[in-house]
Amino acid sequence: MNKGKIIVLSAPSGTGKSSIIKRLLDYPELNLGFSVSATSRAPRGAEEHGREYYFISHEEFKSRATAGDFVEWEEVYPGTCYGTLKSEVQRVTEAGRNLIMDIDVKGGLNVKKCYGEQALTIFILPPSKEELEKRLRGRATEAEEVIRKRLDKADFELSFADQFDVRVVNDDLERAVEEVRRLIIHNA
Ligand code: ADP
Ligand code: 5GP
Repeated sequence: MNKGKIIVLSAPSGTGKSSIIKRLLDYPELNLGFSVSATSRAPRGAEEHGREYYFISHEEFKSRATAGDFVEWEEVYPGTCYGTLKSEVQRVTEAGRNLIMDIDVKGGLNVKKCYGEQALTIFILPPSKEELEKRLRGRATEAEEVIRKRLDKADFELSFADQFDVRVVNDDLERAVEEVRRLIIHNA
């Protein structure tokens, strides 16, 4: 059986990656499996262990990194690590399914380096910085200090957009989902 494709969605926090992925998972014909990352941050809102993330302690994260359990990992925000587990990539792609990842810009580019043509990297752009700030605040799941840190990192993250295979603006959510859906169909 052919190995599945690896679809990477990266963007500054608050752009809408999780919202887009959530809708894409409703299309059975895309044959998608979500790559559940490990993180050392605490669950947010209604997030569940094993669904949005594997929530582990900083110590466990570091020992799994040392053990070589990750395809890639990054300290995305100071003191907070996120990583893609090798076991997640194997679980989904070896069954012939397409793997969809929500990972930071550096992680996305590292996945492309590792997997080459098997990976399709998509950068999701916010319509403007003002709208990005509005969405992050509107989500109302983070403290002000965390929101500030995320906004401060946005310009740096946006500077990587050109290195991705394609760019999609998340202006209207349904339109952006449709554009990503077509990209997956044409590339998978
Ligand atoms: P990310 O996963 O990139 O951090 P989210 O998917 O959590 O972003 O979206 C951040 C916030 O913006 C959420 O409250 C979400 O409902 C909202 N949102 C997402 N896409 C749009 C859109 N196209 N228009 C308006 N609000 C949006
Ligand atoms: P959040 O805390 O909003 O869920 O995610 C913060 C950032 O971490 C986002 O940019 C998200 O894409 C990124 N991220 C989530 N999982 C991974 C991962 O496995 N690896 C990397 N490098 N980044 C990740």
